[in-house]
Amino acid sequence: MKRIDVVGFGPGGYEYMTVQAVEAMKSADVIVGYTTYIDLIRNLFPEKNFLDTPMTREVERCRIALAEAMKGKQVALVSSGDSGIYGMAGIMLQVVQASGEDIPVRIIPGVTAASAGASVLGAPLMNDFAVISLSDLMVSLEQIMKRVECAAEGDFVICLYNPKSRKRKDYLEKAADLILKFRKPETPVGIVRRAGRENSSWELTALKDLKHAEVDMFTIVIIGNSMTYIRDGKMLTPRGYVLEEV
Ligand code: SAH
Repeated sequence: MKRIDVVGFGPGGYEYMTVQAVEAMKSADVIVGYTTYIDLIRNLFPEKNFLDTPMTREVERCRIALAEAMKGKQVALVSSGDSGIYGMAGIMLQVVQASGEDIPVRIIPGVTAASAGASVLGAPLMNDFAVISLSDLMVSLEQIMKRVECAAEGDFVICLYNPKSRKRKDYLEKAADLILKFRKPETPVGIVRRAGRENSSWELTALKDLKHAEVDMFTIVIIGNSMTYIRDGKMLTPRGYVLEEV
């Protein structure tokens, strides 16, 4: 009987993977994951045995991982970004707990979309920030918008994961309208598509124009707080250090 490693492999590019993540994938007998993620890493570990499942089959994916481990295989269950941030870590632990099996699970963290995206934009997360997913698959829309409103009122920088999908076209606009109750229309917003992956692109805009921005399922949206500014193409939330202007 071997271990299950729940591996966060970062935003996609090899250079963003931690040594621990690469070693876990290299030492695995089988790598299990969502088809789109497996496609991102397949070429990096061509000799590996992969088992992929489509989206929304998370429980099934974990059961496959557990069954493989019980066969004596070393398993890497992969998530993009950090495995513990909207990733597979929680559900994998739940599935093992529910099974009553004594299989060790190791959670391997990774560079999450918020930090990969922030690094492209400048330094927008230098002060307190809130991470909110606009996906209502697991959380009601009412609850999501309540959290958006509270984060806006608390003057947190706000990172929006899952900002848009085919079914959820207007959630981002709804969130922007709520935040506008507490923040200036000119509040800087950074948008990064496919951070740390091929064909990455980014733009800086303002809160009032967020609804017109090009946003999809591989986009992270970072909305500044009342202190955030854009200068020389960089989005920056100052932390409070005082220095003389040049
Ligand atoms: N575990 C992942 C998040 C999974 S939720 C992590 O820690 O990053 C999926 C959402 O993450 C996407 O809808 C998108 O908002 C964001 N995301 C994942 N990879 C991204 C990337 N390379 N660039 C921008 N956003 C990304």
